Amino acid sequence: MTEILRVENLKKSYDGFLAVNDVSFSVAAGELKALIGPNGAGKSTCFNMLMGQLKPTHGRVYFDGKEITGHKPRDIWRRGVGRTFQITGTYQSMTVIENVQMALMSHHRRIFTIGPRAWRLYRDEAMELLKTVAMQDQADRPCSVLAYGDLKRLELAIALCHKPRLLLMDEPTAGMAPTARVELMQLVADIVRDQGVSVLFTEHDMDVVFAHSHHIMVLNRGELIADGNAAEVRNNPQVQEVYLGG
Ligand code: ADP
Ligand code: MG
Repeated sequence: MTEILRVENLKKSYDGFLAVNDVSFSVAAGELKALIGPNGAGKSTCFNMLMGQLKPTHGRVYFDGKEITGHKPRDIWRRGVGRTFQITGTYQSMTVIENVQMALMSHHRRIFTIGPRAWRLYRDEAMELLKTVAMQDQADRPCSVLAYGDLKRLELAIALCHKPRLLLMDEPTAGMAPTARVELMQLVADIVRDQGVSVLFTEHDMDVVFAHSHHIMVLNRGELIADGNAAEVRNNPQVQEVYLGG
C-alpha cells in the first residue's frame, strides 16, 4: 500500500521533559488510523508537529514522499494535509451552506471576488459536501442554532472543501454523547471509503476506535507502545497494562 505519511523518530522536549519520545509510524493512502492514549500521552503534541504548529526537537516527517519537517502550517496545508478545527472555524451569523461556500471560495482562491455569481457557482458543490456529512436538510439554517454534533459535521465538510489527501482530527468526538460519537466516526469511515482520503485521528474512547479504524496506535507517556489492527492492539499485554488498566 502507498504511504501517505511517514514519521521517523519524532521527539518533542519541553525543558527536558519528553512529551513525545522517538515515535515512528506511517499512514497508508486511504487508511483510517487512530492514535489513542491517556490524557497527557502526547497525542496533541504529535499532531501539532505534523501540522507544523510545533517544531520537533528531533525526527522527520514526510508527506507523500517529501519531507515537511519544520515547514510552515500553511505550506503543509497547501500540500494536502487538512485538519478539523474547533467550533471557531464557523461563522455563526452565516448559514450552514454559506460557511461551506466561503471555504470553497477560499479553496478556489475566489475569496476576493465574492459576488452573487461566485455564490451561485459554489452552491451545488457546497450542497454535495453537505450531503457527504448528512447535513443537506440543514443547509439554510444559521450556524448559531446548530446542535454541537451538527457543528462538528459542518467542520468536517469545511475541512473537505480543501480536498485534503490526509485529514488530521484531534479528538473529533470530544464533548459528544456516546451515540453521536459512534455516528460521527461512522461518517468519517464512510468518507474515507468513498473519497479515498486518509484520516488520522486521536480519541480516548476505545469502543469508538475499535469499531471503525483500520489500524490503531497506542501512545503512552510519549512512547508508541502498539501499532496494529484491533485484535493485535487489544491483545497487546503492554496496552492492557497501561491503557486498559490490567
Ligand atoms: P494528549 O494530547 O495526549 O493529552 P499532550 O500532547 O497535550 O497530550 O501533552 C503531552 C504532555 O506534554 C503532557 O504532559 C503535557 O502536560 C505536556 N505539554 C504539552 N504542551 C506543553 C507545553 N507547551 N509546555 C510544557 N509541557 C507541555
Ligand atoms: Mg490532546
